[in-house]
Amino acid sequence: MRRRLSALVALALASCASSPVQEPAVPGAVAMGDEAWLIAGRFPAGRQPDGNSILLRGPGGALLIDTGRHPDQVARIEAQLAALHVPLVAIVNTHWHLDHVSGNPALKAAHPGVRVYATSAINGALDGFLKDSAANSRKALADGLVPPEMVPDVEGDLATIARGAELRPDVAVDASRDVTLAGRRLSLRVAPHAATERDLWVYDPEGRRAFVGDLVTLPVPFLDTACPEGWLGALGAVASSGARQVVPGHGSPMDRVAFGRWRGAFTRFIACARGSGALEGCSAGWTEDAAEWIGSDAARAKAMADYYGERIRSGKLDGYCKV
Ligand SMILES: [Zn+2]
Repeated sequence: MRRRLSALVALALASCASSPVQEPAVPGAVAMGDEAWLIAGRFPAGRQPDGNSILLRGPGGALLIDTGRHPDQVARIEAQLAALHVPLVAIVNTHWHLDHVSGNPALKAAHPGVRVYATSAINGALDGFLKDSAANSRKALADGLVPPEMVPDVEGDLATIARGAELRPDVAVDASRDVTLAGRRLSLRVAPHAATERDLWVYDPEGRRAFVGDLVTLPVPFLDTACPEGWLGALGAVASSGARQVVPGHGSPMDRVAFGRWRGAFTRFIACARGSGALEGCSAGWTEDAAEWIGSDAARAKAMADYYGERIRSGKLDGYCKV
C-alpha cells in the first residue's frame, strides 16, 4: 500500500520562477515576459501535486496550458486571468495526469466559449489507468489506509475521475501541427510514448520557448505511466526545437543550458535503472545530478527515485512502450 500511495504522490511538483516582472502578476503568479504568466504548481509534503499552469495572452484572448488539480490552483489561474482583462479562449492539456487536467470542468463552466486541445490519449487512460487507480483508491479509503492529510486529495481525484468524460479534449491533437490560439502562432508537438501514451508540448517560435509539461519534472521524473525511451526521444526533440527557455510541468523555467543538464541527469538515471548495478546508486546519482534544483527536497527526491528506479528495472513500465 505504501507503494501505491507513493505512486499516488508521484504525479508532479512546485516551486516558483523568477523573470523580469513588467506585466501584472497576482499573488501566486509570476510574469515571465512576452505576455506569459506562470502559476507554479505546488507539491507540499504528504499531499498530491499540482502541475504548473501557464497563461499566454494574445490579440484574441488568453490561452492556458494545463489546469492543475486543486481548486486553489484554479483560483490562482482565475485571479491572473482577471488581471489580464481578456477572455479565456483555449486550454491546452499537455497530458491527462490529474495534476494537469482536473481544473478543466470548472474552467469550462466559468468560460463557456473555451476549447480544450489535447491528445486523445485520455480515452485509454479513462478505461485503464484512471479506472484502476479509482478502484484502488476506493479500497484504500475503505480500509483506512490513506493518511488523513491525503484523504481530501484522494477524494478529490475520485470526484474528478467520476467526471472523466468532461476531461476529454474538444479538439484532439494526435499529430504535430501549427495553430493560432488566442491570436498567437504556436506549434503543438506530439510526443508519443513519453510521460504518457501521447504527450503534447507547445513551442512558441516568437519567444523561442518550449512549454513541455511533464517531459521535465522535479524533484524527480514522474515515470508512473511513462515509456523511458520514448521520453528520451521527446527530450531530443525539445533540444533541437530552437527553444532558449524550457518551461517544465513541475519546477522553474530553465534556460537551454540548464535544460541540457536536466536532460543529462535524466539520461543517466534511465541508463542506470536499465543496467545491472545497484538501484541505490541510480537514485543517489539522480539526487546528486539534480541537486541544483532539488535543494532541501533531497530526501523525498531520493525516495521517489528509488520507487521509479524499481519500476524501470522490473519492467513494469515496458507496457507503456508498446504501440
Ligand atoms: Zn505532472
